[in-house]
Amino acid sequence: MTATAGTDRAAAPAPDARTSAELIRAEEPVLAHNYHPLPVVVAAAEGAWVEDVEGRRLLDMLAGYSALNFGHRHPALIEAAHRQLDRLTLTSRAFHNDRLAEFAERLTALVGQDMMLPMNTGAEAVESGIKVARKWAYEVKGVPADQATIVVASDNFHGRTTTIVSFSTDETARAGFGPFTPGFRIVPYNDLAALEAAVDATTAAVLIEPIQGEAGVVIPDDGYLTGVRELTRRAGCLFIADEIQSGLGRTGRTLAVDHEGVVPDVVLLGKALGGGIVPVSAVAGSREVLGVLKPGEHGSTFGGNPLAAAVGTAVVELLETGEFQRRATEAGAVLRDGLTELVGRGVIGFRSRGLWAGVDIDPSIGTGREISERLMAEGILVKDTHGSTIRLAPPLTITDTELRAAIETLGKVLEA
Ligand SMILES: *Cc1c(COP(=O)(O)O)cnc(C)c1O
Repeated sequence: MTATAGTDRAAAPAPDARTSAELIRAEEPVLAHNYHPLPVVVAAAEGAWVEDVEGRRLLDMLAGYSALNFGHRHPALIEAAHRQLDRLTLTSRAFHNDRLAEFAERLTALVGQDMMLPMNTGAEAVESGIKVARKWAYEVKGVPADQATIVVASDNFHGRTTTIVSFSTDETARAGFGPFTPGFRIVPYNDLAALEAAVDATTAAVLIEPIQGEAGVVIPDDGYLTGVRELTRRAGCLFIADEIQSGLGRTGRTLAVDHEGVVPDVVLLGKALGGGIVPVSAVAGSREVLGVLKPGEHGSTFGGNPLAAAVGTAVVELLETGEFQRRATEAGAVLRDGLTELVGRGVIGFRSRGLWAGVDIDPSIGTGREISERLMAEGILVKDTHGSTIRLAPPLTITDTELRAAIETLGKVLEA
């Protein structure tokens, strides 16, 4: 270790001197147009607040699609990252690193699983879950080679890779990207009879989101997740819960499946696991399932890197206190009460669990996009999912006062 390894925060790169409008125009010819961002250019952030290039402060009611559950730059997470940056950042899995054991011990304990497989992005965790389930089907269940099927739900969102869009029902996500990976059966969400009919001797797993986030925060009936657990156990196939958006405190519990006391065979985690600092994802599962992987069969250069492990461990440490789950429940009640007041006053209906809501706006008032733009003008950042539905998922650190002010602003925008 040398003296140069210290953190010199004053040596941060100079910000781009261009205005927001200039930066938005500058992106157009050089950046792929796979997103349609709101016209705001964020330059700094702290907690639930972001600041644009011109120094205007806006309340973040999206939180990076739940990647920022602990808010922007949570001090404990930033501290863990800084400490690790000064010691060791990457080894690859060719060698062990001194951060990974603790991350795996504490994450598996937090989510009640035996083992974990560290990856980086959510889509990689889903891909890894699919691979592990197929291998389990061939080696443990005895499905004939290359015959394994995985049952998924319509209106799912599991990521953007070719295999994952193969079983999407969103034409925009699929069109032009074929040929697709076979081996998936799609059934309606929240329909146990359809699921039962689709599962057979070839089925490796049922893969579902316990709450469908991108679909508009669609919450299944009470008993659905318990039904999926019982059905998969009876059928001798795996239950894989994609908790990448619903997990890690968002719904008021560590995992959304905890609301029904259900333990899946495999839990997929991502987004908030990286604390809004680095991409960190994981497949957590039973030893019977993750135990099928042998050296060389799966991997990732960056998966389990010491910086990711240090930040991930700090995230787990925050969740171990139960404080964020409790806040999601308390603030979630404020959110629900506020939205209930708006029903019939521009809001047709809403679905919420914990600090997470899908709000259906009267389409005669505007599209979700138009409402998002009007809210942005009033200093509130949200994003539409599709049609006239907007998703509210503020950082779990938001105060009741900030939340009430945001809902009040939504009410004003809908009245105008
Ligand atoms: C965001 C998301 C993914 C994909 O995660 P990426 O990190 O964007 O690849 C997968 N599943 C769910 C439920 C998600 O919300």
